Amino acid sequence: MSLAEIAKVTPIAPAVRNRILILDVERLPGLSQQSWWDRGDLKNRYIHHETVTREPRTTILCAKWYDQPDVMRFAEWDKGGRKVFLKRIHALMAEADIIVGHNLDQADVPWLKGDFYLPRIGHPHRPDLPPLPPFKTVDTLKVLRRELRSGAPFKSLDAFCKIVGIPAKTDKYDRDAMERAVAGSDEDRLRLTDYCEGDVVATQWLYDWERPHIKNHPALFVDGEDKLTVCNRCGSETKPIAKRYVANVMTYSMRKCVNCSGHSRISIDPERLSMVRGV
Ligand SMILES: [Zn+2]
Repeated sequence: MSLAEIAKVTPIAPAVRNRILILDVERLPGLSQQSWWDRGDLKNRYIHHETVTREPRTTILCAKWYDQPDVMRFAEWDKGGRKVFLKRIHALMAEADIIVGHNLDQADVPWLKGDFYLPRIGHPHRPDLPPLPPFKTVDTLKVLRRELRSGAPFKSLDAFCKIVGIPAKTDKYDRDAMERAVAGSDEDRLRLTDYCEGDVVATQWLYDWERPHIKNHPALFVDGEDKLTVCNRCGSETKPIAKRYVANVMTYSMRKCVNCSGHSRISIDPERLSMVRGV
């Protein structure tokens, strides 16, 4: 891909102090035993927990602080095993103000919470971790669904990144690779972790690409700046514009970010404190 084809993105202002964690996981699939008379029997079969010999579980996590260059790599087979693996991820997530990922709200976060608090059938480790402190999430897939809907027909991380010109992985997913990795194959461990790391890097690009469109992005705090005039998407300065935001009962003055062009309004509600919200 030539440089000209690489998508334009707007990074977050360096003065922003939120701890933003981008993450992605890889998992081992579950296994269950089924009784059957005919191959067609399994078509609408439900998985009963009594038949399960192994539950799906997270085995690799790669994560990156938004403002740090390095991707951190964690795996169940690292020294200390699953106990240390989960403890490290838990500690990392406990530090984050905002966690970013593709399909994070439906997948990574609930899967990880299950890993933190529940034993997994098929693995002897019994976790004993405290609840996480609150954090906000930005699910880059949800943003595509909400803002672009059928206007972006291909929403997988890989497809979307290719279409807009974000450097992304080219490796194909191999269903059996994780089985071999858990069984001890160094080659598969390395390849799957590299694949996961690649997704984290692509997710940060996508996050940078999407942010001007994320009107409800969690607030960004900037050292020594007036909060109300800071862009909620990138932490840069905003300037008042002539156009007004038209709501149902009132209209509001609008501001526009000088960096990412995102719009915001200052609402003055006599019953509440002033607040800025994306529009
Ligand atoms: Zn901005």
